Amino acid sequence: MWYDPSPLLVNLRAEDRRALSSRASSGELAAIPFYDLDLELADDQRTFRMTEEVWFTNTTGEVLRELALRIFANAVGERPRISVVEASCVEASCRVRVHDRHAALTVVPAEPIGVGGRLRVRLRLEGELSHIDPSRTGMFVQAMESQRQLAAGSLHGEYGLLAESGGTASLGNFYAMVADRRDGRWVLQDESTLGDLGSGAISHFRARIRCAQGSRVAVSGQVVREQTVLGRPPRHEVEAVAGMARNFAIIVSRDLHVRERRVGDVVVRSWFKSADPTDGEAVLGHAAAALRIYERRFGPYPYTDLDVVQAPLVGGAGGVEFSGLVTVAQMFYGSGDGAGGLGGLLPGIGSGMRQAMLEFVVAHEVAHQWWHGLVGSDARLHPFVDESLAQYSSVLYMKDRYGADRAALEARRQVAANYHMMRLQGLPDGPVDRPVAAFGHPLAYAGLVYGKGAFVYRELQRVVGDRAFFRALRRYVRRHRFGVAPPRALVRMLARGPRRAQVEGVARRWLDEAHGDEDLGAADMGTLVSDWVAGGLGGMGGGLGGAGPLVEQLLRALGGGGSGLSPSAPGLPAVDPGALRDAAQQLRRLGGP
Ligand SMILES: [Zn+2]
Repeated sequence: MWYDPSPLLVNLRAEDRRALSSRASSGELAAIPFYDLDLELADDQRTFRMTEEVWFTNTTGEVLRELALRIFANAVGERPRISVVEASCVEASCRVRVHDRHAALTVVPAEPIGVGGRLRVRLRLEGELSHIDPSRTGMFVQAMESQRQLAAGSLHGEYGLLAESGGTASLGNFYAMVADRRDGRWVLQDESTLGDLGSGAISHFRARIRCAQGSRVAVSGQVVREQTVLGRPPRHEVEAVAGMARNFAIIVSRDLHVRERRVGDVVVRSWFKSADPTDGEAVLGHAAAALRIYERRFGPYPYTDLDVVQAPLVGGAGGVEFSGLVTVAQMFYGSGDGAGGLGGLLPGIGSGMRQAMLEFVVAHEVAHQWWHGLVGSDARLHPFVDESLAQYSSVLYMKDRYGADRAALEARRQVAANYHMMRLQGLPDGPVDRPVAAFGHPLAYAGLVYGKGAFVYRELQRVVGDRAFFRALRRYVRRHRFGVAPPRALVRMLARGPRRAQVEGVARRWLDEAHGDEDLGAADMGTLVSDWVAGGLGGMGGGLGGAGPLVEQLLRALGGGGSGLSPSAPGLPAVDPGALRDAAQQLRRLGGP
């Protein structure tokens, strides 16, 4: 007996559901990997147990001797957090080998899986959530931490995706998923753990989650049932379904508040801690505006729900995208900006900076619903495809919502600043379109993928004109809806007619060659700081790729440490000497400069 995909599509809006139902009859929808999860989260949120069933159909076109699964949470951090307690096949006999610190599993059925053949694997997993001290999730501390890790070369993609902090549990990458295939082989390891991990294949998910009573649960897809399960003690149970999604995430907290708003027939929600009602409300407004702007520019959003959730992210991540749900780092909310935060450090400007970053991150993460969510791309080999386009989209959001001046400012201080910080750290310009592992340094990755890469679209738009540019963008989304786009598909769509050579020249110059300083101007700390002081801070996807060094430089400058910037630099506000002293003390405590 195989699964019926139709009840798994309730999270899709009517138009997509209708379009897909014609594919359902052909059996195509039931050939998509289906992950059925049953999860029990301990009351203290430190551990979980889960039963998972993976329904796999061999659509590779070749006979498979084995099926490989990955548990991406185990690919990062000092030790694996999830262990495979039991693994077997349902209605088939198979051997399961667990390797690479439980980050990969190979399932070898007694009979090879023929073309179109099926295999159903049942796993029992036990997991541990890493504990993040809430004091680590503030912006200032995150900036310093990124800076220290950069200096030590130990920034390795541990973003707190499977973690507990201050009563909030985040679960991302916590299940086993079918590995990617490349050149006829399963990909069992990643060369680098920077950036987004996880297979981007379209899948179906269903999850039952049981957690402490009184918890609120923000989850990918649509909640189809929510109830109290009697017992001692009684537990809260949520069942959710996410069809045609690329991944699945859960955030559980007793302190989550939610505000929602309808945009057309989509329910947009902002989930936030009780300490942050103002920012929670602002995020709802930004997310709704972003959804409206992107739908008009790129085409319809596919799901009935869009959830934006405050989460205790670390490791320099500003936010993380999942299908239908995005998280935004705690550090951008007011309560993450308390004593020792940017607000405390630079009174009068810190909170404006923080709010500008918060809005930019929300716009960036919502843009991912199109770039990587709806239109898949290879996040390991060509990370620029979704990240640079998400950065471009955030600037477009600023333009459509506030006008060209604001867009230009944000393009400088939240996008180009990544590039300039990279150059100020002495790293050379280089090609944007490279595998994650080829960037070598996290600042080069931030500078090129989140910085320079976004501007290729500005240039392409200039060459072909707005009308042709947005028409191509909408066609690109239509053609690759729920699929995976080749890395240069959009460039090829634009490279038509008389402008072909020009379009190809722009793509080559910005994606394959190195002319960054000619195109984006030379790095200049004074300009960076004055843009920053005007209310923003260059960062990786709104994150802290470039912010750590910037904060450090600024502190040195303010402290007369001789970086060439004097405390009386034009545009620099007066800084309270007491705040500066406190900051210096914090820096020393953190082992910073
Ligand atoms: Zn991103």
